[in-house]
Amino acid sequence: MRDFEREVSNAAGPLPPIRTEEFSWSLARYYLFRFCRRAYFIRYYLAQGGWDAYSHTLAREAYFSKYLMPFDTWLSRTLRDSIREAFAKMSAGSPGHKRRGFGFYLLRQIGKATADLQLSLKNREYLYDAKRPAILEYHLGIGDFADVDKLTEMAVSILGDAYAMLSRSDIIADLANISFVDLRTDDVFISVDYKGFPIWLVPGLIYFHEGAASAINAEVRLTGGENTSDFFARIGRLNSLFALYCANRYPGFPVSITTFTFSQELSSVVYNLFEPDIESLIDKSSGEMLALIDKDGLAHPEDFPPCENRDACRTCRYQSACRLLESAMQGKQV
Ligand code: SF4
Repeated sequence: MRDFEREVSNAAGPLPPIRTEEFSWSLARYYLFRFCRRAYFIRYYLAQGGWDAYSHTLAREAYFSKYLMPFDTWLSRTLRDSIREAFAKMSAGSPGHKRRGFGFYLLRQIGKATADLQLSLKNREYLYDAKRPAILEYHLGIGDFADVDKLTEMAVSILGDAYAMLSRSDIIADLANISFVDLRTDDVFISVDYKGFPIWLVPGLIYFHEGAASAINAEVRLTGGENTSDFFARIGRLNSLFALYCANRYPGFPVSITTFTFSQELSSVVYNLFEPDIESLIDKSSGEMLALIDKDGLAHPEDFPPCENRDACRTCRYQSACRLLESAMQGKQV
């Protein structure tokens, strides 16, 4: 039953500070904190409880925004998840048989994910169900991305090229040599306890091979997107988090990580790229994040200012929630 009393009280009055949940750290959190404090506040605090249809408009908008996915992130995630799925379905047999099976299932997963995206965008399903796939650039109406058919054509073309490159790489041959019993986890997200809080990460496919704790991951970079050095720095950081996880979970084992990186100009397989001092980065950034929470565990919106580079706002996924928040902070009803 609708709680009209709560709705009315939510829609009026000054914006109160927000009680925060248990702190955790992730690479995505680090990058958002660095990008814009206001966006960070929206994503990690304002969006709490926004899944509830009767929560405050601000919480609902913030929650909706966090599921708008930049196109390159969707491509990377689709490729990575398709590799995991294809590996899980790959039947036993000779390495040649397994390779063919892997290729078949990989293509099928990519096709399925792309068709699902098209359905969600065409029928505007993502507007009513935040968990349905949504592309940020489509939602914002940016260039060719605003056209569902062009966007899905781009997805098919990029993922098809990535598949072709992947097929020619050593990765599939390596995968064909791994046994199912060596697969370590089916979880997409894993966490490691670190100095009193969990760190969440998405390492890709995890397995044991030749005495090493190993992972295969995939990253897609679009032309004109993240610059090359930032792209590889991000991969190194992600890999170092996996090494941290392994040191905790499988102490004594060497760590080996293969990352398939795909872009139109530069595709490669990268082995064991690590960030040398990931712990300093976690310590410093988690300290800064926690310093913005008061002693009662409350986050005050005024402590999280908008970013100075307003050019970044044009493609920010939180821009709508940001406008509403700004109005609420000025005492206007939203
Ligand atoms: S619109 Fe601009 S100020 Fe607002 S959250 Fe996004 S980047 Fe930050």
